[in-house]
Amino acid sequence: MAYSPLNDKTVIDYVKGLPNIKEVFLKNAEITAKEIGDGNLNQIFIVHTKEDPKKGVVVKQALPYLRVAGESWPLTLERVFFETESLILYNKLCPGLVPKIFHHDYDMYLFVMEYLGDHEIMRKPLVRRVRFPLFLDHITTFLAQSLFFTSDLYLTGLEKKELQKKFINPHLCKIQEDFVYTNPYMDSPENKWNPLVDGEVQEVRNNGPLKVKLARLKEHYMAHGQALIHSDLHTGSIMINQKDTRIIDSEFAFFGPMAYDVAAVIQNLALNYLSHFAHTPDAKERVEFQTYLLDLMRGVWTEFVRKFEDLWIHNNRGELVPNKYWDFKAGKEAFAEFRRRYIADLFSEMVGIAGTKLLRRMMGIVTVWDISSIHDAAKRAVAERISIRLGTRWVLEAENIHTIDKMLAVLLDESKEVKI
Ligand code: ADP
Ligand code: MG
Repeated sequence: MAYSPLNDKTVIDYVKGLPNIKEVFLKNAEITAKEIGDGNLNQIFIVHTKEDPKKGVVVKQALPYLRVAGESWPLTLERVFFETESLILYNKLCPGLVPKIFHHDYDMYLFVMEYLGDHEIMRKPLVRRVRFPLFLDHITTFLAQSLFFTSDLYLTGLEKKELQKKFINPHLCKIQEDFVYTNPYMDSPENKWNPLVDGEVQEVRNNGPLKVKLARLKEHYMAHGQALIHSDLHTGSIMINQKDTRIIDSEFAFFGPMAYDVAAVIQNLALNYLSHFAHTPDAKERVEFQTYLLDLMRGVWTEFVRKFEDLWIHNNRGELVPNKYWDFKAGKEAFAEFRRRYIADLFSEMVGIAGTKLLRRMMGIVTVWDISSIHDAAKRAVAERISIRLGTRWVLEAENIHTIDKMLAVLLDESKEVKI
């Protein structure tokens, strides 16, 4: 079938015509559909039975332009391929942590997935100070398993490069290269920022040492094909409830630096932390929830590393450093030292990337809902100013911050004198 964008009517016929959708819908059920795409890039149809609105599927179809920017910003449709293929792989590597995929159609640039009707995009409940006791375990399992099993630590050189070949995702990479690493820090028409932090934005743009570090981080993003990364793993790409966590929206997936995904999670929790200076005026409630977020951020790093290293020790089948290579008297210690250095590098990269991502959300093409939902510009500026200072320090000081506690100490330091 030639590509044409579906609508609320045609999507129903499309879904009814699919052979393997019976496991979701009863044969004669009456089906309705609606497009709910609050996302930036695609059409999202929820297709469900009239009797049971929770029972259904989601059809995600690419549009040939960037939705937030309008039809004037063309965008390749092939991104559906990368999202579908990565979700299929994630279903194998991290079962239960991504939606099931029922069908894909690369002529129509769409795929059909499990409807997560009992889940919510994580940003929103985090603003309401909802806690998720299982999130830490789920997200660190996702990070450790998706990154480890697609790296040179687990795959042979041949396997890794065959897989990497499949995930050369140039157009979506370019979006991140431009919108995370370059355009926010120079004059570019799509940039938006709160006029109340204009001084801080100009300071960033004119900070030579900072821009040198940002350029080095960009080079690292472009050239370090370490593992299959999701590459857009913010809390808007996580659907959650008290029991379950699912990672969605992996259309940016490619072989890049592992630290990028870990940084995205920690940086989004940090932004949520800062947003509560406006969202939660009650000091006691705020401190309690911010303490919870600090524990989460600390836990994301420590649990990720614990699981990742454990996977490495027990599954060192990759060709980077095969077990035989360490088969000598002091080999055990040498292998441990190599792991220590590898993880130390991951950590400082993670700090720098988290800083970069904080900055770009304050002065680039898209903000995040945690912050944009603060309607009072002066209150929003409080969170934005700290984000900019914190982002700047995380980028500049990344090589000297060696522990997650030190990283979080900078957050505490920058936010200690907040007046609200
Ligand atoms: P985009 O790539 O266009 O940003 P997303 O994949 O982020 O689109 O999805 C947009 C929105 O659609 C999400 O924020 C979420 O509210 C909803 N959504 C996406 N996938 C599902 C799903 N499987 N079940 C329920 N809702 C979903
Ligand atoms: Mg998307």
